[in-house]
Amino acid sequence: IVQVRKLYKIYDMGEEKVYALRDIHLDIRKGEICCIFGPSGSGKSTLLNQLAGLEKPTRGGVKICGQIISRMDENELAAFRQKHSGFIFQSYDLLPHFSALENVALPLMFAGVPLKERNKKAARMLRRVGLQKRMSHYPNQMSGGQQQRVGIARAFINTPEVVFADEPTGNLDSKSTKEVMEMMVAFAREYDQTLILVTHDKDMAAYADHIVTLHDGEIVQEEWKKEEEILI
Ligand code: ATP
Ligand code: MG
Repeated sequence: IVQVRKLYKIYDMGEEKVYALRDIHLDIRKGEICCIFGPSGSGKSTLLNQLAGLEKPTRGGVKICGQIISRMDENELAAFRQKHSGFIFQSYDLLPHFSALENVALPLMFAGVPLKERNKKAARMLRRVGLQKRMSHYPNQMSGGQQQRVGIARAFINTPEVVFADEPTGNLDSKSTKEVMEMMVAFAREYDQTLILVTHDKDMAAYADHIVTLHDGEIVQEEWKKEEEILI
């Protein structure tokens, strides 16, 4: 579902060029849970941002859901992201003046779903993440773990083909980390959605089908749980 060829991301810092990614080749299959590991500064977020169409690569091709997103302009990218992908961030990125319910319903609002239907669906999602008693709470009235569960409900509500997560548990304690990880995996498995996740948490490897390790902008190791599944 994701194909990356000869991908480079070079930040031009005047005097110096930063090779954040160099010569990345990567295939991620539909339904895979793919973990991106690597030390700080190795290019994990940069890679995720190129895959998610949040940034434009310097060189190389990225194809997702049959479309070459590395050729798209900003408007096409924005439309593509909204239609095909969901996002979960370390800092939760909920809208502060929206309730939990309104935050979760946001992707449906952008998709033009009528208010009643989107509230019904959002309420169902919040129940599934155990927040039936927090529907009208605002983000600053919830714990970090609760906010991230809202983030998960929002990312999965319109069953996107691919969900991208950058250090989704980076700010959570170990109990919330486990809950959040298991919720993401359960949602992704339910509809065979692809989950691509950057994390420092080595425990996540237990849930992953495919593990990519970056170092200095290059893939230094790639591992699959079920080797035969990489044969197309
Ligand atoms: P962390 O685990 O700390 O989040 P990371 O693996 O996500 O690290 P990236 O954020 O992808 O690392 O950064 C990779 C490299 O690219 C770093 O050397 C960083 O300084 C550089 N870099 C990232 N974004 C920019 C930018 N907008 N401008 C210039 N350099 C950048
Ligand atoms: Mg990062």
